[in-house]
Amino acid sequence: MTNWVEISARNLETNYKTLTDAAAPGVTVLAVVKADAYGHGADLCAPILARAGASWLGVTDVAEGMAVRAALAQEAIAAARQPRILVMSGLGEDDASSAAAYGLTPVVWTEQQLGWLDAVATGYEQLAVHLEIDTGMARQGVAPGAELDDVLRALAGSKALRLEAVMTHFASAEIAGSKQTARQQQLFEQALEQVAAAGLRPACIHAGNTSGVDNASGEESSLAWLRRIAAKYQTQAMVRTGLGLYGYALPVEREAGFAGTVQETVRPLLKPVMTWKARVIGVREVPAGTQMGYNGTFTAAAAMRLALLPVGYADGLRRELSAAQPGAGGWVIFNGQRVPIVGRVSMNLTIVDVTALTDVAVGDEATVLGEGVTAEDHAARAGTISYEIVCGVKASRRLV
Ligand SMILES: *Cc1c(COP(=O)(O)O)cnc(C)c1O
Repeated sequence: MTNWVEISARNLETNYKTLTDAAAPGVTVLAVVKADAYGHGADLCAPILARAGASWLGVTDVAEGMAVRAALAQEAIAAARQPRILVMSGLGEDDASSAAAYGLTPVVWTEQQLGWLDAVATGYEQLAVHLEIDTGMARQGVAPGAELDDVLRALAGSKALRLEAVMTHFASAEIAGSKQTARQQQLFEQALEQVAAAGLRPACIHAGNTSGVDNASGEESSLAWLRRIAAKYQTQAMVRTGLGLYGYALPVEREAGFAGTVQETVRPLLKPVMTWKARVIGVREVPAGTQMGYNGTFTAAAAMRLALLPVGYADGLRRELSAAQPGAGGWVIFNGQRVPIVGRVSMNLTIVDVTALTDVAVGDEATVLGEGVTAEDHAARAGTISYEIVCGVKASRRLV
């Protein structure tokens, strides 16, 4: 194996605890393991989170939910510790029977989805569903008002389905004092009024993500708001954290004109869970004037020593880390020391400049992502966010 990812069980547990401590008191944390645990391996991460005490896991679809159930079963997690699994993205007609059979809890928002579940629910105890309210992303969820009333009527009329939770998702959770979040909160409260008026009493409400826990600007924070409305409707409050579990969070930003405190409660405490490594497969000395990589974009100004790493964009190493000038692109770490990438990152190979190192040999380990080179560093160069970087890593994974 020439490049691989090491997953730190300890850092995952620590981050989970950091997030649950910050959400306390009164707010449960759902641990999101969708998208193969953001590239960390849901089969590895779900059992660790379950053992750490997670009562809820979040996945994208029913297929992921089934895979997570299988991983938990293999690890012989005690029945009492088996987390509930929330299927967070749209339930399709074909998914309904598997969702019921595998004990997965779907997020729903249309009468059509309720109909599909109703049709397969016979033979099960009441099927729990979580109702998503669209408060301003125009993505998933039912709009408050007449549309919501129709869905609530269908729910109240179903013997097979039980409304366990009402939820929404925020578009700008990392922005302190966000006007958009305030508007979304208002709409969500309006929806909760409609739910109560329909005679439904959900046991739980949930909203917010990692940034909802991190961005804790006092009484105006979304955690404080969540606690207030949960108390008002006498339900359990929950947040859904993903990225933070894996050691990252978006920087908290300030809404223009917001004069309140801006705080990062958990971001400084989180520890990256993924360390991506590669072993040197070649070392060579080159004279001044040598061009390297595709299109010879980098030319050695003086004699250089180059190491070749068997990792490239096919593995998820972003091509934007390429460098036509010394230090213009990304870097890797050898024994704590930064070593710049030179020339173009290719599909499965990357050249790094090890001139400054005294001894580098075939077989030596380089850190491609981890201590000293974060997903945020890669994201800054690739013009994206740390989410996309960790989700894009395709190397094989092992627990450490
Ligand atoms: C992915 C997702 C989350 C988790 O978001 P993070 O920013 O990774 O914490 C929360 N809620 C929903 C609905 C999601 O899809």
